[in-house]
Amino acid sequence: MAEVLVLVDHVDGEIKKNTYEMLNAARRIGEPSAVVVGTPGTTSKLADGLAAHGAEKIYVAESDDVVNYLSTPQVDVLAALVERVSPPAVLIPAGADGREVAGRLAVRTNSGWLNDLVDIDGERAGTHSIFGGAFTVQSHVTTDTAIVSWRSGSLEVEEQSGAGTQETVEVPATDASKSAKVSNRAPIVGGDRPELTEASVVVAGGRGVGSADNFNVVEVLADSLHAAVGASRAAVDSGYYPNQFQVGQTGKTVSPQLYVALGISGAIQHRAGMQTSKTIVAVNKDPEAPIFEIADFGIVGDLFSVAPQLTEEVGKRG
Ligand code: FAD
Repeated sequence: MAEVLVLVDHVDGEIKKNTYEMLNAARRIGEPSAVVVGTPGTTSKLADGLAAHGAEKIYVAESDDVVNYLSTPQVDVLAALVERVSPPAVLIPAGADGREVAGRLAVRTNSGWLNDLVDIDGERAGTHSIFGGAFTVQSHVTTDTAIVSWRSGSLEVEEQSGAGTQETVEVPATDASKSAKVSNRAPIVGGDRPELTEASVVVAGGRGVGSADNFNVVEVLADSLHAAVGASRAAVDSGYYPNQFQVGQTGKTVSPQLYVALGISGAIQHRAGMQTSKTIVAVNKDPEAPIFEIADFGIVGDLFSVAPQLTEEVGKRG
């Protein structure tokens, strides 16, 4: 069976859920091989989790360069492995970093790129969800390898054990890879809340929230539900909430068990980032707001009246 490469998404020694989804997806078309690119010592913490989710092989690429040079070390490692094992597909998370890796890798290996897949239909074929989920599109590439960026939240995570055989590979350190250097890392704001793309509950606010100070209403409800906070682009552009929390086509894609939209109209570009949420609750004072078309529970009302009542009710139920 052909090896299918999966780039492991990990932060601070924790594997992100989308890695497990990609291992499941890879299993459908071949033997999943996890590729961990990290600083020295990273992999020892991750190997058990990867094997428990189906990785037959784990390629370990560790170097201090990894944190210094943006995405190029990941591209270098994957490009060398593509040349060596000729996989039918390489799966990469479809976040901002992942898309950069995927695009560069596609050019470097002369491969076709299937962007933002929600399903795998064959060795070099898959399904995209487009225009805010209004359509699905099947496509395939004709090159030997498909570079796939995988949309988080598209598949269930299943435990299935793999051999997890480890092999060390080099992180090439070419001058070209070092042309852009990381000069500063700003701490992420958001306190102890779960990471937006990993959270099982997201409470998001839109332009209807009205100001940065008012976003407190969103945060208080989020904290009562141990949720992450999200924001529409209009809320971000208005300066109500930081850009890193934007949900949507040009923001993050989330797929939580519960998505609560407060004062969000439900534009197609917003839906693109949240419509696969399992349960959607919308609070909007306009009964015609498009968000109600996809909401499982809709409340027509003023968010400043409804959200505190929800917070109080959640508090009563512990
Ligand atoms: P609005 O559309 O202004 O809606 C505000 C809503 O709040 C209204 O429905 C109103 O009835 C309601 N409201 C007002 N006051 C209250 C109240 N007190 N209580 C209850 N409800 C109230 N948008 C994104 O979100 N994410 C993206 O990634 C994104 N990418 C884009 C990319 C492109 C190329 C383009 C062109 C647009 C993109 N947009 C994106 C913008 C998108 O088209 C919408 O403009 C945006 O989503 C609107 O945000 P909103 O729903 O918060 O604001």
